Amino acid sequence: MQFSPSNIDTRPHSSFVGIHQELCFSPSWLHRASKGYASIGAKELGKAGTAPAHRMVAMLLLGQLFPGDSVLHRCGNRKCHNPYHLYIGGDAENKRDAKLHRTSGQLWGNLYQTCGFGTHIVEMQQPLVLSTETCRRSLKFKGFTPCACFHVDWLAATTDGYPQLHGHQLPADIAGAHRKIHQLFCGPIDRYDIVGHRCGDPTCLNPYHLAIVGRADIGEWNLKYDKRFKLTPADHARIALSTATNAQLAADFGVHPQTIQSYRLSGRNGRQTGRNYSRVRTTT
Ligand SMILES: [Zn+2]
Ligand SMILES: [Zn+2]
Repeated sequence: MQFSPSNIDTRPHSSFVGIHQELCFSPSWLHRASKGYASIGAKELGKAGTAPAHRMVAMLLLGQLFPGDSVLHRCGNRKCHNPYHLYIGGDAENKRDAKLHRTSGQLWGNLYQTCGFGTHIVEMQQPLVLSTETCRRSLKFKGFTPCACFHVDWLAATTDGYPQLHGHQLPADIAGAHRKIHQLFCGPIDRYDIVGHRCGDPTCLNPYHLAIVGRADIGEWNLKYDKRFKLTPADHARIALSTATNAQLAADFGVHPQTIQSYRLSGRNGRQTGRNYSRVRTTT
C-alpha cells in the first residue's frame, strides 16, 4: 500500500518508533509484573484478564500457541517484546538459552538507546548475545515496513471484521488485535480510545498504520459493552438534569457513584464535541 501526499498529512500519525532486528524493545507504558515481564490486558484469555506481553506478541505476530509451547527470548531480556527476539520452543531450548545468557551476563553493558515521544519512552537495549537456537516451529517474524500492510492468517475475526485471538466472538472495540498491537508498540490506550487504520485496511496489524483517531462516547460505550452499566437512556437524561450529588444518585439508581460521574462526563463531552469522531478508513 502506498500513501499519497493527498491522504497522508491530514490524518493522525502513528507514534510507532520502529523496531530494530538487534535492539530490544521495552516501552515504558506497559505494566510490569513481578518477574519483570510486561503485561497487557486480554479479558478474552481468561479470568486473570491479562497476558504477558511477549506471549501476546508471539500469538499475534508469530503464530498460534499450543499446550506446552513456551515463548522464549533470544536476547535474555524479560522486559523485551521485540518479535525478532522471540521464538516458540520448550523446556530444552529454554534451558540452553538460560545457560547462554548466564555465561554472557557480564557482557551486558549500558549499550542502549531510548526513543522518547510525549511522556513515554521505548528503551532499546542492545544484547551482546542473541541465541540462535533452532525453533520447535519455524515461525519467523516478517518485519514491519511503513509502506506495506501486515497480515497474518491464523487469527479469527471479530463480529465486525477485524482480526482477534481465537476463542471469542467479540467486536473490535473490545478484542481487536489492532488495539493490542497499538498498546504493545505505539502507546497506551484506554477502552474509549478509537484505534484507526491509516491504510484503510481493518485487517492490517502494522503499527506504522495505526493511530488513535478519536474517543468513543463514554455513555454509549458503557451501555453497549459494560454489564455494570444498567441505566436506560431515560435514566441518563434524568442524571444529566439532576442537581443531586453523585452519591445521592448512585443510591437512587443502585449503581456506583463512579458510574454516575461517567454518565455526567459523557453527557458534557458529547455536547461539547458533537460526538464527531469516526474511524479513519480511507480507500487505497
Ligand atoms: Zn530483546
Ligand atoms: Zn496497513
